[in-house]
Amino acid sequence: MTRTVFLGFDSMDVQLTREWAAKGDLPHFARVFETWASLPTLNPEGLLVGGLWPAFWSEAGPAHHGSYCWRQLVPGTYTTAEMSPADFDSEPFWLRLDQAGIRCAIFDVPLVRPIPLRNGVHIVDWGSHDSQLDTSISDAALASRLHTLGSYPQKRCDITIHDSGREHLLTALRTGVGMRSEALSWLLASEYDFVAAVFSETHCVGHQLFHVHKPSHPRYDPGLAARLPDDPMLTVYRDIDAALGRVLSEVPDDTALMLLFSHGFGAHYDGNPLLAEIMERIARARRPAGALTTLRERFLVPLRGVRRRLRRALFPRQRHARNLRNVDGTAAWFAIPNNDLYGAVRLNLRGREPWGRVMPGADQELAIQTIVEELLSLRHESTGSPAVLRVLRTDDYHQGPNRHLLPDLFVEWNWSEPFVALTSPTIGVICSTSEPLRTGDHRPHGEVFVRNLVLPANEQIPVESLADVLVSDVLARR
Ligand SMILES: [Zn+2]
Ligand SMILES: [Zn+2]
Repeated sequence: MTRTVFLGFDSMDVQLTREWAAKGDLPHFARVFETWASLPTLNPEGLLVGGLWPAFWSEAGPAHHGSYCWRQLVPGTYTTAEMSPADFDSEPFWLRLDQAGIRCAIFDVPLVRPIPLRNGVHIVDWGSHDSQLDTSISDAALASRLHTLGSYPQKRCDITIHDSGREHLLTALRTGVGMRSEALSWLLASEYDFVAAVFSETHCVGHQLFHVHKPSHPRYDPGLAARLPDDPMLTVYRDIDAALGRVLSEVPDDTALMLLFSHGFGAHYDGNPLLAEIMERIARARRPAGALTTLRERFLVPLRGVRRRLRRALFPRQRHARNLRNVDGTAAWFAIPNNDLYGAVRLNLRGREPWGRVMPGADQELAIQTIVEELLSLRHESTGSPAVLRVLRTDDYHQGPNRHLLPDLFVEWNWSEPFVALTSPTIGVICSTSEPLRTGDHRPHGEVFVRNLVLPANEQIPVESLADVLVSDVLARR
């Protein structure tokens, strides 16, 4: 049968893959690089860590789907709450196919809520990185068949390394690739017209073992490196290469295939743990709040109405607000969570926030200029090199009905050196007090490769446009 297959390699670094493929380590990827058409992808600016996969499956950017981080500000409050894919409403593109009678098998595409399919199967968080939902397999027969493989050997890689160590994680990931490869083989042997499967193991190994891959990393662990037969990232990439080889040997030559390297990896060097304090010091220097206001708003106002607001239209599936934390509603601006790669800042804007301190218009523009100027003046205390390379305005990149859920500014850190202590005339010195659990973090570059599919004649393709290429092909093959 003719069919369309999407394979995602979650955060598999395409530059590293190319390097190792050129050395002969990854023969199946080498063949793809030599003979398939490709385009660099354009990931959601500033929000690519949490916003990328929802942009892929919903075919729209974060200002539409609204999901970008596991913890987000509850709009209309000064409180952040844990969010999960179940809190957002956008629909994945495969629902359209399902409604048209096309049999889809969707296997571990990240950050999407389970939606039963009439004609196919949806597998959610069987073995994803950072699973936020319980495993869900919408087809009972397939669920019991998957059960014969045993459970996926780890649920969340942070917990796995905390409980059992990084060496154990590597073993679990290798077992996981083997199980996933077997399960994927079953899906490809069944009568599905469209199969989409995502490998998560490349994501976990990048976060947890980057320091063993990179001898120049300050946390390079020679003991662990000596115990392992090879670079742990290469080890997992080799296993994934073998899994790709198996897919290519099992699908007929006329199968349409798309391979996505979603984003890349580098060292986990960023100033996010310091950003709240930095923003507070900048705000205090520019616009101090009265003591009474501070007292009243810090302790009384922020939590009011959070649960009610969560139950309202914005996050209709949210049954209860989880793990609430306040930001400082007395300040003109504050840092908000945005995973780790880019810092995020939100203005306390009059008319949008409950007790807005910055007026829209000239006041807002002045606030932005102040923040940009101050952040760009931050230096690493030890080397004098800049800590921030760019400050991006959300409105330059993201427009849509859920723009109000997003931060206003993104801080692009200088990812080339560790963050130990930062300094500027305004903030003085702020020292880092802890090191991140994860030693590797994302980089924005991604790339897509296709066989028997046509990519648009552009220099880059936005990740939200990839589904259109797949859907057009699936429909054309009917
Ligand atoms: Zn990640
Ligand atoms: Zn993981």
